Amino acid sequence: MTKRILPPATIGIVGGGQLGQMLALAAKPMGYQVIVLDPQVDAPAALVADQQIVASYDDVSALRNLANQADVVTYEFENVDQTALQAAVPAEKLPQGVALLNITANRLREKQFLAALGLPVAPFAAVDNLVTLDARCHEVSLPAILKTATGGYDGHGQWDIPNTDALANLLAHWQQPTDIALVLEKKLAFDRELSVMVTRDGRGEIRTWPVTVNEHQHHILRVSAAPATLSPQIAKQIENIATTIANALQLVGILGIELFVVGERVYINELAPRPHNSAHLTIEATNVSQFEGHIRSITGLPIPVITQYAPAIMLNLLGDQIIQARQDIATHEGWHFHDYGKRDVKPGRKMGHITATGMAAMKDLREWGTRL
Ligand code: ADP
Ligand code: MG
Repeated sequence: MTKRILPPATIGIVGGGQLGQMLALAAKPMGYQVIVLDPQVDAPAALVADQQIVASYDDVSALRNLANQADVVTYEFENVDQTALQAAVPAEKLPQGVALLNITANRLREKQFLAALGLPVAPFAAVDNLVTLDARCHEVSLPAILKTATGGYDGHGQWDIPNTDALANLLAHWQQPTDIALVLEKKLAFDRELSVMVTRDGRGEIRTWPVTVNEHQHHILRVSAAPATLSPQIAKQIENIATTIANALQLVGILGIELFVVGERVYINELAPRPHNSAHLTIEATNVSQFEGHIRSITGLPIPVITQYAPAIMLNLLGDQIIQARQDIATHEGWHFHDYGKRDVKPGRKMGHITATGMAAMKDLREWGTRL
């Protein structure tokens, strides 16, 4: 049972990006106060929160200030400084704990955790030093992907190794230190990428959100759609994965699980201990969004069984696509347009997204997306 924290209590969020913004947008109508900690003045979440503490994520005295003012503290990204967080925030104000953060902050630990639960992941090997990469490639067999154990996101810190030529080339042109912690994993020829969100509510009931089908471009999520058409075998494997992880962790707060489907087999790609880009469509398409689900979980409230009202797709707006979208909103009645309010438009940066529900609006959004 999670301690109940009722409105008008204050929720402190470490990190002020779009996930923090949408968490704040879910918490506010419930009557909670929201304080956001982020180094950037007017970060997306700060635009909608009651207050911002402008400080870096590892600033212990700033985190203490957040903890003093908040009744419960949460985070919107996984690379939070765990030591600083633990030093600053008393355990009773951090219902999510740090065990899950500790696992997900390191790809190797994460894969070992999943494998130890008997859950399926692609064959992988730790690479402590680049001199052993050749041997590790034999172990998992090519094609493979080399990933930094820590700090990667949106495809940053990843190198494709399709064949032995690419391996030689990578070693010849390596720019990073040779002893950074890396994980080598077999590249799966997947049929589809899916994801599922899971949490436990204040009573300990496990809740999952509709499985989404995800399309990436240059390693960045482009489109998510739900519901996914799933065979009973695949649906069962996903259910088992979500409940096994939620039980093993005594999960509090929402967790995103990225999946690969190869034939009738499901593999776990990675975990995200926070709301996930692929489930933004839950804002418009389900009875309780992933963001409200997260808030309810950390405040000890119940969450009903999740139902989806209508089929939906979400299109990410990357870089200057936001500029086009701001114009075209005027001629697309079916759009649910989200602009995170980031000041600087950078190539590949997630600037906003559009959700469409129902067949006609979904078709219109897909067509608009392909013209970008
Ligand atoms: P990130 O932290 O950047 O999201 P991921 O490990 O999820 O990193 O990789 C990003 C994308 O790269 C995945 O969504 C998938 O499209 C592709 N990818 C990653 N690992 C594999 C793999 N083992 N086999 C096939 N594709 C992969
Ligand atoms: Mg990923």
